[in-house]
Amino acid sequence: LGPFAELLNYRFSVPALNGREVPGKVFVKDALQLTGVEMSYNCFPPGFSMPFLHAHRDNEEVYLFLSGQGEFMVDGEAFAVSEGSVVRVAPGGSRAYRNTGEAPMYFIVLQVKHGSEPASGIADGVPMGKPEWPAG
Ligand code: ZN
Repeated sequence: LGPFAELLNYRFSVPALNGREVPGKVFVKDALQLTGVEMSYNCFPPGFSMPFLHAHRDNEEVYLFLSGQGEFMVDGEAFAVSEGSVVRVAPGGSRAYRNTGEAPMYFIVLQVKHGSEPASGIADGVPMGKPEWPAG
């Protein structure tokens, strides 16, 4: 992806806006061949606001705020978000968010099928012994 500061070079075509291109959003599911999660990296410049509300059919979403200052709204209730904020929204939640700060707002969004219930914590991990790093 490159440095976060270059995320605005990515453009996402929004079907709900008749294909209008929005800068600063890149989905990585296909590039990483992910099969259990959709994931996007996002940058909202200062003053940028989601131009529409949206919900999901099957996926819950987790928003991981990395830097910047913003506001998040779910079902008409708004709250502040900033570095370290983690927001989970159920599929049917009507959501929008905006950058209210002076700097770019960086965040990652995960979409996971609601109710898929992956193993918690390290429960799915399998010990494989000590790592042997290749010389280099
Ligand atoms: Zn969404």
